[in-house]
Amino acid sequence: MVELITSDFSPSKIVCVGRNYIDHAKELGNEVPTAPLLFLKAPSSFIENGEAIVLPEQSKQVEHEAELGIVIAKRCKDLADDADVKEYIKGFTCVNDVTARDIQRQDVQFTRGKSFDTFCPIGPHIAAALDTTDIAVICRVNGEIRQSGRTSQMVFSPAFLIRYISRQMTLMPGDVIATGTPAGVSKLNAGDVCEVEIEGIGILSNPIIAAKD
Ligand code: ZN
Repeated sequence: MVELITSDFSPSKIVCVGRNYIDHAKELGNEVPTAPLLFLKAPSSFIENGEAIVLPEQSKQVEHEAELGIVIAKRCKDLADDADVKEYIKGFTCVNDVTARDIQRQDVQFTRGKSFDTFCPIGPHIAAALDTTDIAVICRVNGEIRQSGRTSQMVFSPAFLIRYISRQMTLMPGDVIATGTPAGVSKLNAGDVCEVEIEGIGILSNPIIAAKD
């Protein structure tokens, strides 16, 4: 079953996982974490499939991050290590965790670099039944492949992440977990079109425009 993600989609929070693919942690010069590295994107950064990612004037290095997104089905708190997470998953979708890399580095903490308006394309829809053990996560810019990973390369699996996050903060229906990005992040420029494709879900496509366009 497939449900379209439209402009009225409104997660109470977007929880992201940093450095969840070994190759991506290394390309940015980071160690692979021993526990999930969590951060939040502002819900106001959400845009749907086809809407433009706006490059803010504050940044000179905005990058794409193709990620498998988990959409939460019901309130979820304090799950045990062996809890079955199936009932808490509404489905899976594509997320582009757009990042102002220069600002992320400058600020150390991630809030500003990750939360500019339009920095969280999600969609095009929610695929309810999907085996995410080993599926392709791809990012193309202007048709050229920049990122190509597989979910089997994740350090922490979707089920592990749901249980872990539920013990740090209550997950609410419609919340999104972005599960980290494979290697190959690169700079986006005005006029580009960025696509996130996840096997079994579909293609999330967004044009890039400058703030003054
Ligand atoms: Zn990310």
